[in-house]
Parts: sequence; structure tokens; C-alpha cells
Amino acid sequence: KQSGGREKDKADRATSELVLDQRTRMILLQMINRGVVSEIHGAISTGKEANVYGAVLHLEDGSPSIQRAIKVYKTSILVFKDRERYITGEHRFKSGSEKGNNRKMVKLWAEKEFRNLRRLHSAGIACPEPLKLKLHVLVMEFLGDKRGYAYPRLRDARLEGEDAEKQWRDLYIQLLGIMRRLYQVCKLVHADLSEYNILYNDNKLYIIDVSQSVEHDHPRALEFLRMDIKNVGDYFRRQGVDTLQDRTIFNFITAPDGPVEEPALSQAVEHLYEVRPAAAGGDAEAAELEVDNEVFRNQYIPQTLEEVYDIEKDAQKLGTAQGEQLVYRNLLADQVVLSKEQKVEGDEESGSSEESEEEGASLGS
Ligand code: ADP
Ligand code: MG
Repeated sequence: KQSGGREKDKADRATSELVLDQRTRMILLQMINRGVVSEIHGAISTGKEANVYGAVLHLEDGSPSIQRAIKVYKTSILVFKDRERYITGEHRFKSGSEKGNNRKMVKLWAEKEFRNLRRLHSAGIACPEPLKLKLHVLVMEFLGDKRGYAYPRLRDARLEGEDAEKQWRDLYIQLLGIMRRLYQVCKLVHADLSEYNILYNDNKLYIIDVSQSVEHDHPRALEFLRMDIKNVGDYFRRQGVDTLQDRTIFNFITAPDGPVEEPALSQAVEHLYEVRPAAAGGDAEAAELEVDNEVFRNQYIPQTLEEVYDIEKDAQKLGTAQGEQLVYRNLLADQVVLSKEQKVEGDEESGSSEESEEEGASLGS
């Protein structure tokens, strides 16, 4: 029992310095006892919603220690309000001011992050491998160097030298590929993607912070995707990258057909550069681009089939020049067959127009 006592001392010392509540200390102690980590170090990051700590696992056989990162979600009250919008069936969390519910909620967020990280990791997207989850405490792979320094956020990455410009462009293209892979393979939209939730090392981007990520069929998934696209574009433009238009990227990410692996992903992005319409150049070009981006951002994207306004008419436009203008043409192409059946079923309740009556009759016979 002697060694257990010493372990407990270690854990107590570490945790008291970090001002953790009793429950969290117990979980960390359990992690130490079970050999998930041996030591917990200082905070890598203290945020509104979570703290991230560095940790080390010493191995018995004398091989080099393994670094780990521990994300501890905060159970304090006010912080999670904003997050409701990411959850479907919000009513479950309405009484969130109560302590017990807060605990449940942070547990839910930690679980969500764990599951999403697992999805990214098994899809081969660079991210911390999730290792262990207990209530609101998540242990994951440490992204950093051997000395224990975490990789910088993309926000803090310094790309220097003569080819810095090319490096920024390559990272931009890499990220667009990741976003498509995330959508098509993981069926997820990050929903908080920015230079703050991407780590950088050696020309490689690592995606982190995926607790708020949503399924691609979440009612607001496309809205979040559009927001992610905007943030990414804004950031890389500030780094001097010649970025593609939001609309082009949206279509690239959501198109059901096409590559989901490198190097084909990057090649597909390069192709988008080749086929983009040449503009007037200079200020006029920039202004035009900005207008189109703004139009796209404010454009209505139907999220469900019920929301698709007159889907048959829209469907007819597909393949025509007008069809190119439909923001959601990729999604539509997937769903046209299904929507016809749904429309027939729904006919009784909708005070149907002549057109749909006609169609209902012909399909019904
Ligand atoms: P928050 O919800 O507080 O934004 P994040 O998951 O974004 O939490 O993590 C906050 C910071 O902690 C990150 O910006 C990064 O610097 C660091 N961090 C998070 N996960 C890891 C990890 N696995 N390895 C190294 N550093 C990490
Ligand atoms: Mg973050």
C-alpha cells in the first residue's frame, strides 16, 4: 500500500496546484493508478470551457516516457449556454442551471469530443488520438515535441524563409482537403474551425477541439460549414494566400463524387484554381469577389427536404446553367429521388397546387 500512498501524494500535489475540484482529482488519481499517465504537469491551456494539461507516462521497461494531454472540461455554470445550439433536442438541457445537469452536460461534451476524435483518427485525419475518457476528463495523444512543448496553433505558426508564401498556400490546400475528408468520410462538420483550433508542425496541420462538431445532417450543419469556410478563407487571405471563393469551396466539400484522399484531393483543389473564371484584375476583381462571397454567405441553404422550396423545379435546373447557381446542388443531386416520394406522401396536408395534384395523380397510379 506504500506505493499507492506515494502515488496519491503525487496526484494530490499535482492537482492541488491546478485547483481542481475533488471529483476531478479522483478521476486523475484513478488515471494514475491505472497507468494511463504517471505524472500530471502544468496547464498547456486554460480556456473558458476546458483546461488542457500536459502529462507523462513512464514506462517500466526503461523506454522513453510518453507525453500525453489531458483535457478537463469545466463544470462551472455559465460557460455552456452558448453551446446549446450545437445539440439537437435542446429541451433536454433547458434546466442547465442546476449543478447536476451541468455535470451531465460536460460529460456529454467530453464524450462527443472523444467519439469525434476517434472518427477523425480512424479516417486518417491528423489529430490527437483519443486514449481514455472518464466523465469530463479526456486523455489524448500529446501533439508536441520531445521536450514537452506543444505544437503551436496555426494562429502562432511562423513560416519563414523565401518560400513562406508557397508554404501558406500549401497549408491552405491541405486544409481544404481535410475539410472535404472530414465531411465525406467522417460525416462531420467541425463547426469551430479556425486558426485557433488547428495545430501546426513541419508543414502539417492537426485538427483539434471537435466537441462541438456536428453530423453532416444536423439541422444547422451547412450553416456551420459555411462559417468554417469563411473563417478559414479570412485567415489565409490575411496570410497573403490567393483563396478560392466560399461557394467554390462549399461545392468542393459537399460534392458526393470525387476524391477523398491525398494526393488526389490537392490535385482537385488545384483544378479548381485552373477552371475558375478569370476576372478583371486589381481592385475590381477583389471587389467582385467580396460581393460574391457576401451573396453566398447570405444565401439560403435548405437544411432538410421539407425546406427545399419546390424541389422539382430546382431539380430541373440541375445540369443547366441556372443549376450551377444553386448553392445546394450537390445535396440536391443526392436527394431528388427520395424527395419525390416524400412529396407524394405529404400531399394531403399541403393545400396542394394544381401542379402537385397532377403529379400526385400520375405517380399514384
Ligand atoms: P478549448 O475548448 O479550450 O478551445 P482546445 O481543445 O482547443 O480547447 O485546446 C486548447 C489548447 O490546448 C489548444 O489551443 C492547444 O494549444 C492545446 N492542446 C489541446 N489539445 C492538445 C494536444 N492533444 N496536444 C498538445 N496541445 C494541445
Ligand atoms: Mg479551442
